[in-house]
Amino acid sequence: MRLLLLGGVAEANALAALLAARPEIEATLSLAGRTSAPAASPLPTRVGGFGGADGLAACLRAERIDLLVDATHPFAQNISRNAAQAAREAGVPLIRLVRPPWRAAPGDRWLDARDMEEAARLLGAAPRRVFLAIGRQQLAAFRAAPQHFYLVRAIEPVEPGLPNCEAILARGPFSADAEEALLQAKRIDVVVAKNSGSPAVAGKLAAARRLKLPVVVVARPAQADGVATPQDALELILAHAETLARRGVST
Ligand code: NAP
Repeated sequence: MRLLLLGGVAEANALAALLAARPEIEATLSLAGRTSAPAASPLPTRVGGFGGADGLAACLRAERIDLLVDATHPFAQNISRNAAQAAREAGVPLIRLVRPPWRAAPGDRWLDARDMEEAARLLGAAPRRVFLAIGRQQLAAFRAAPQHFYLVRAIEPVEPGLPNCEAILARGPFSADAEEALLQAKRIDVVVAKNSGSPAVAGKLAAARRLKLPVVVVARPAQADGVATPQDALELILAHAETLARRGVST
């Protein structure tokens, strides 16, 4: 069975490792190419966009892909929309792997935001020291609230375009202790986070809880449901491979 795995998050890498141990599955990992030094993968890897849904559908046909797996980030809505459309166009089944969102724990002081614009508004009128732990793509929304100081953390160099800010480069995982030390050293009084659900970057939530700081939590864009773990995805993939093999025997 030929499989295309759309990746970009740790769970996709974990699934890639599971697939690499299955010789009956010929899998390729696809990355957008956003980070200059992506984690090494045991699967053959292609890098770069497909040219929209039509381009992805053409690739599925040209590569004779039997199964498409969308294991992209829960906030990467374009590629997921394209994956759904391309799978329909090319008549290829689609599996989505998406980790569950974080839920507030006792002691959390979360403010829910629908999107980055609402997150910027929720920071309020009075100047605050804000930890923007949202990557580098959606910083522009905070230009509407220039009264705050922003600590911006990203994996790749970033030009935040915010008047009062400091950018730091770092790649997770981040422990709660390290996050607590950072929040204290930078005298942060509010955190902004995307509800990615990633354990690798949940340390900031625990740190904010300990320091009794509010966290503005930006909700995920609407998306299709999926399986929650790489192991669950593998089971579905193996079931699909078995169905294909049975069909192959009976034709
Ligand atoms: P996006 O807005 O949904 O996608 C933008 C375009 O990037 C897509 O239309 C597609 O280009 C290309 N693309 C995205 N993922 C791809 C993949 N796995 N393989 C090949 N092309 C891909 O995505 P994004 O939010 O910019 O994120 C880009 C990548 O970084 C995703 O793979 C995602 O999993 C990962 N990531 C995103 C975030 C986040 O917060 N958004 C965080 C961590 C990791 P074409 O239309 O030309 O095919």
